[in-house]
Amino acid sequence: MAEEIFLNYIGGKWMPARKGRTFENLNPADVRDLIGLFPRSSEEEVNDAVQAAKEAFPSWSSVPAPERAEILLNVGQRLKEKKWEIARELTREMGKILKEAGGDVQEAIDTALYISGEGRRMLGVVTPSELQNKWAMAFRRPVGVCAIITPWNFPTALPMWKIAPALICGNTAVFKPSSFTPKSAAMLVRVFEECGLPPGVLNLIHGLGSEVGDALVQHPDVRLISFTGSTETGRRINLQAAQQLKKISLEMGGKNAIIVLDDADLDLAVEGILWGAFGTTGQRCTATSRLIVQQKIYEALMAKLLDRTKKLVVGNGLNPDVDVGPVINQEQLNKIHHYVEIGIKEGARLLTGGKILTEGDYQYGFFYAPTLFEEVQPNMTIFQEEIFGPVLSISRVSSVEQAIEYANQSRYGLSSSIYTRDIRNAFLSMEKIEAGITYINAPTIGSEVHLPFGGVKETGNGHREGAAWTLLEIFTEWKTIYVDYSQKLQKAQKIEEDRG
Ligand code: NAP
Repeated sequence: MAEEIFLNYIGGKWMPARKGRTFENLNPADVRDLIGLFPRSSEEEVNDAVQAAKEAFPSWSSVPAPERAEILLNVGQRLKEKKWEIARELTREMGKILKEAGGDVQEAIDTALYISGEGRRMLGVVTPSELQNKWAMAFRRPVGVCAIITPWNFPTALPMWKIAPALICGNTAVFKPSSFTPKSAAMLVRVFEECGLPPGVLNLIHGLGSEVGDALVQHPDVRLISFTGSTETGRRINLQAAQQLKKISLEMGGKNAIIVLDDADLDLAVEGILWGAFGTTGQRCTATSRLIVQQKIYEALMAKLLDRTKKLVVGNGLNPDVDVGPVINQEQLNKIHHYVEIGIKEGARLLTGGKILTEGDYQYGFFYAPTLFEEVQPNMTIFQEEIFGPVLSISRVSSVEQAIEYANQSRYGLSSSIYTRDIRNAFLSMEKIEAGITYINAPTIGSEVHLPFGGVKETGNGHREGAAWTLLEIFTEWKTIYVDYSQKLQKAQKIEEDRG
């Protein structure tokens, strides 16, 4: 069968990279399955896409926001119709099991529908003036051309988290998806095209981060960068963008912990730990990669957890019997195994897993056995660094205070969770855990689109996605208006007052 060829989308036209270069996209569950050839773009295509977005900006930003919202509403509805078609391709190129891929698309649908409501809201402020016969108010203006740069682990949800608010606010965008999930990105952009988005408002550039990323970040006409990915890449982008004083929002790595206290419902906790640690093969930014367990229930919890972990079925995510799909690529597979070797060397105790799966059909994909380590100390590498795979590091503590102290011993601060029946412990952790999100009696994963999403410390740079009111802060600038109808010069700051 001839391989499928994909194109960039620039100024409303689908086109190849000028030099005709391409890169392959392979199925991580079976590398014999070539999903397609994608344009390996360079700076020239970035320039074309930014130019198209710049040209589209004046007319798109003048379209009344409720009209922009109608397109977004249609996008959400069209995505509903195509949900499982997109989800199947998403599983094929990214690996997560099909029902989770459906969840990924569902999050994109929810975001499009939710954010479309801002077309008739996008609230500004009218406030009393300090002077008579004068009005004081502020309203939101779009920023300009936005660069949208996204990772591979949520190939439709994360782009929509950024594209929907960027467009509803009147911005135009250049979208550079991960080079490991370009087909989901192409399918998503196709839906915007089908729903009548004018040319140039949303442009898609395929290519490698190292080749097109820098050009996009440094392009002088890009005024805003919305990035989700690793802390390493985010830091680099932040430094580059700072030179040109661009607006930048960063959502980066995590090392999320579940705390289980002596008074917890153990069966509930085990379900949550399995879902948090091994859902999406541990490749969520919010994945549970640390488990902190109080002394008294430690042995009982471990027995249940070990038994259930050993029963998880690893395989191709399109197979309905599979619990845990492949990891994204060979590099990630090697990285996970390298961390496991470091864990053993530093003295953690391997309970199960700890190996690359190679027998039978596993040989064609990137599969790793679900892995549990115990006796993990906070100074160990596997406690500190983001592994981004199906590896859970378990530590034992004596009190809720020590559990929270352990949870906070991380340079990241995205998600967190505590299992307890004691309301005092729940509230203590809500206040004291250093993270953007804390779940009570639920695992660290599974956000809802209408609440702020993001993290503290090296996970983010102070912005939040998800909730409309936080997104508007990213994708608009405030404009303040004073209307003086007194028909005389009035001076603020009590300048006319006698000098005492
Ligand atoms: P990544 O390697 O940092 O890549 C993210 C995106 O940046 C990709 O599109 C990548 O392109 C691009 N990129 C790479 N180098 C670049 C450069 N020099 N300039 C501009 N763009 C560049 O991250 P990933 O491996 O795709 O994703 C996993 C990471 O994302 C994990 O750390 C995870 O925690 C984090 N994440 C965070 C959140 C959150 O909301 N906090 C959500 C999901 C994931 P290529 O693919 O072509 O390299």
